[in-house]
Amino acid sequence: MMTSPAWIEVDTAAISNNIAVVRRLLPETTQLCGVVKADAYGHGVDLVLPVLMAAGVDLIGVTSNDEARTARALGFRGRVIRLRTATKEEIEDAGDLLIEEWVGGLQHARIVESAARSTRRTIPVHVALNSTGLSRDGIDFGTTAYRADLAAIGRLTALRTVGICAHFPCEDAGDVAEGAAAFRAQSAEAVALLAPGGLAQRHCATSFAALTVPSSRFDLVRIGAALYGDTSAPVTGLRPAIAFVSQIAAVNEYPEGRSVGYDRTFVTRRASRLAVVPVGYGSGLHRNLGGRADVLVRGRRARVVDKLAMNSCVIDVTDIPSVRIGDEVVLCGSQGDEQISFHDLERASGQIAADLYTAWGGLLPRRALRENRAAPVRPSAGGPLVWR
Ligand SMILES: *Cc1c(COP(=O)(O)O)cnc(C)c1O
Repeated sequence: MMTSPAWIEVDTAAISNNIAVVRRLLPETTQLCGVVKADAYGHGVDLVLPVLMAAGVDLIGVTSNDEARTARALGFRGRVIRLRTATKEEIEDAGDLLIEEWVGGLQHARIVESAARSTRRTIPVHVALNSTGLSRDGIDFGTTAYRADLAAIGRLTALRTVGICAHFPCEDAGDVAEGAAAFRAQSAEAVALLAPGGLAQRHCATSFAALTVPSSRFDLVRIGAALYGDTSAPVTGLRPAIAFVSQIAAVNEYPEGRSVGYDRTFVTRRASRLAVVPVGYGSGLHRNLGGRADVLVRGRRARVVDKLAMNSCVIDVTDIPSVRIGDEVVLCGSQGDEQISFHDLERASGQIAADLYTAWGGLLPRRALRENRAAPVRPSAGGPLVWR
């Protein structure tokens, strides 16, 4: 059994709701790539993949081989795209997982080509363009060599171009619309050079772009944040899927005028009841939440008053006299009628919520809400995996 003083709860029903919400907003011809990088944004590929499969999502986006391996072990037979440039070792190690690789330029294409040759494969690839000005990877049409580079990639016979892609730097509708227009022109030229049959899919949209700027959708959209109920796109009906839960470990009374926690950043202004919650920055809560974040206990909000420590924080429960050792504490998520939302965490921490919760999955035990546990997936029968 679980003896950790804190854990993550994943609401798989929220994820299946969110897929349905997103699907309703997209044209039927737009393919949906369910993004499960960073172990499904901390929610766990093992918990999320069965939900995607039940919803008929047959294309996923990963970053690590492990994510793809877990998906394949769960019986996922659809396409898998890697959403970043991989190292040669990763590509060689991904042999039987059939991951379509993200190509970040001519030099990187040669790495992918040599990994393909050393493992005696042809690898389907998505060639990145810098149409949006992210300037992380991708071929830039402002360089003199761009046509020659694309043509050279087209001559690498161990690669097969199945996609032309880009990625947006900003969640701003105007910025996305401009980037999408540039991508429209540049990707058409790239398709002509790389995939003369015109069969390569074009894609650049994330959750925000796909749900805010229809012209960014092209052939497929890569949806991560919205699956987990965390997007700044103006969409109603999405539900957060992750909760961070702990419990009260100790409660004590302190007189007025006592400083609390490291560096004495808080001083009691009255006789106070202070409770210890056994989680801190070692559990993926940033230290700058100290003095700013609220948590829920007995269905009410209580402030984290101290400068958060490595493995504990102190909350002020003076106004909630019923609080006892062992009471459930919610640091993110709902309790009764109250909620600590992603927005609350962002306001308190000054970080995007994903910066917090993607780490939680690796630091805390994780479980699906009991009432939503997906039926076990039966690995489908049938021969070896093949590229589609
Ligand atoms: C993470 C990621 C996405 C998904 O973005 P969301 O905003 O989470 O929907 C799409 N494409 C790439 C390349 C990514 O890295």
